[in-house]
Amino acid sequence: MKLTIHRGTHEIGGSCVELQTTSTRILIDFGLPLKEEHPQKETKKKSKEQLIKDKLLPDIHGLYENPEFDCILISHAHQDHYGLLYFVHPDIPLYMSKGTKELIELSYLFNQTNCNLKNIKTIDAWKPFEIKDIKITPHLVDHSGFDSMAFLIETENKKIFYSGDFRGHGRKNILFETMIKSPIKDIDYLIMEGTMLSREGEPYKTEKDIENEMVKLLKSTGNLMFLSCSSQNIDRIVTAYRACMKTNTLLVLDPYTAYILYMLKDIAKGVPQYDWGKNMRIFFIPNKYTDKVLNEKKMFKFKKAKITKEEVFSLKNKMLVKDSYTMRNIFQNKKLLKDTSVIFSMWEGYLEGQKPFWDENQVTIIKLHASGHAYVEDLVKFTETLKPKNIIPIHTENADKFKDYFKSNIIKLEDGATINLSV
Ligand SMILES: [Zn+2]
Ligand SMILES: [Zn+2]
Repeated sequence: MKLTIHRGTHEIGGSCVELQTTSTRILIDFGLPLKEEHPQKETKKKSKEQLIKDKLLPDIHGLYENPEFDCILISHAHQDHYGLLYFVHPDIPLYMSKGTKELIELSYLFNQTNCNLKNIKTIDAWKPFEIKDIKITPHLVDHSGFDSMAFLIETENKKIFYSGDFRGHGRKNILFETMIKSPIKDIDYLIMEGTMLSREGEPYKTEKDIENEMVKLLKSTGNLMFLSCSSQNIDRIVTAYRACMKTNTLLVLDPYTAYILYMLKDIAKGVPQYDWGKNMRIFFIPNKYTDKVLNEKKMFKFKKAKITKEEVFSLKNKMLVKDSYTMRNIFQNKKLLKDTSVIFSMWEGYLEGQKPFWDENQVTIIKLHASGHAYVEDLVKFTETLKPKNIIPIHTENADKFKDYFKSNIIKLEDGATINLSV
């Protein structure tokens, strides 16, 4: 069996892994690289041939024309894992979890990607399926991406485990604990993400820590606070909802965020919903996302949770308001930003874009974030219980450091290089 990592051996994002047996070819993830300046704009402007020349699209025969791949497995709905699917031949089936499918379709609906995917087959955690001579078992993992999967791949008497993006400190850390308590045995090759090997300065904070700190902040303030986080980071929205419940604070969401939560309600029962009670209200802010929710004829559902402009602007209640570009500008126009603060709850690299706005308006920025990726100590714990024969680094800027932390044999690959796993 042959393995080629087309991209991801020396970068975070753009993951693309190929496995080939004598009869079968599969691809795992087909992500947009994160390091390019505006990769998504590029993909919209240029032809496939030009993108291959520019190396934005990896040059893989049988993927774009005359399809030779039996399937593509997608680990989760982050663009650095699925963002190039738009270019693959539509006859190739795409396998992903229900949550991943839902979020990819939502991102297309709201014009955030050009991935209007058709040939999707949904998979369930821990239910194995076969693609010719390859047996695949999806494993649900804890990650900031909702319904993320790792894959156990068994073929030609070898066991390969692809970790995808994962962590041990999120709301579903029980999944990580279980993987450690009853580790999969006899893994020959562990293809493992190593994002945090280049972000070692980040403090070890769990999603539970974020909840506790948010509770403290909401308790100590009588004023409105903004929450700046991704609407698709469901763990974080749940954290905010729980912190609001504990402090009797009103959580004010925009229709876009409420719609995402609503669309995931049948996949995970714990995702907070607009009709769960008085602690969550929807502010019908005027923007193109709200228009879209209106077009989808879902706005009427949110009416009973609607909060009026007057209620929001009266600032009488303690409120945690989900931030967005439109939201913060509405408050600025009404001159209501005085004495407010913003909980910035994303990777620090994203702060640059909004910092000038908050600074200009003298809004205090409070950074409160836990990474979507496993901290190094958890990666060590994971590898020491799994005891794979070999570890192949992916989704990392620091493949060189793997040998300093992990005891297994490290096989450091280069993008595009093929190795034989049968020997
Ligand atoms: Zn990723
Ligand atoms: Zn991810």
